[in-house]
Amino acid sequence: MGAENAFQLGLLQRQLSDKQFPVHHQTAAKYLPALMEKFRTSSGPLNGPMALINSISYTPYFIRFCRLDASKGLAVIQTKRVAAAIDEILTMTPNDAGSIGQFLATILLLQGTGDVDPKDSKILLPKLKLWQRRFSGRLAEDTAFRVEMLLMSRGKTPEMMLPVLAMLASKLDKCSHPSCDRKERVGGGELMRCAKCKSASYCGSEHQKKHWPQHKALCFAATF
Ligand SMILES: [Zn+2]
Ligand SMILES: [Zn+2]
Repeated sequence: MGAENAFQLGLLQRQLSDKQFPVHHQTAAKYLPALMEKFRTSSGPLNGPMALINSISYTPYFIRFCRLDASKGLAVIQTKRVAAAIDEILTMTPNDAGSIGQFLATILLLQGTGDVDPKDSKILLPKLKLWQRRFSGRLAEDTAFRVEMLLMSRGKTPEMMLPVLAMLASKLDKCSHPSCDRKERVGGGELMRCAKCKSASYCGSEHQKKHWPQHKALCFAATF
């Protein structure tokens, strides 16, 4: 891995390890299906539902939601909206362009690029170079770089992003107890999920009990 790639990855990991806000988890547990419907009927690359979904996209609720049929098309729709508005995005503030890039990079990573309209990739790829130059040294540059890597990989996860994807997936696919790396239940079989939030996984009831004092602040009844 080159120094530049290591830097990009480091930047993303810092973003992901930011403080967890319970209100983000609560919003995700309660409103993700409704937000997704609002998102579908909204327009443009930057709107209320998109900004709200982006702010909760680091939660395990969102990672799980992205695997459900209810979230189908999220990455495809947003890629189309970004491609249609790309010239406008290049005139936006670094913060707005950064939010658009961050959201698109996250959902393309989680949902894959396999269903993205090739016409949209063709519009975006040359413009993503301009995007990186325009917002050089900012988050907007880093996120545009990640979107470019994802779109160029044609359905496969770029190698440099595998650790990030693994880290996101581990929120669900690994025991949530911080000192446990098990990906299966003790004695075999799939990890058990917290029955209330369905967004924390455990190797058994012992680790679930031990983790509860930390988990309870982020555990909300999921509507999906
Ligand atoms: Zn465990
Ligand atoms: Zn829970």
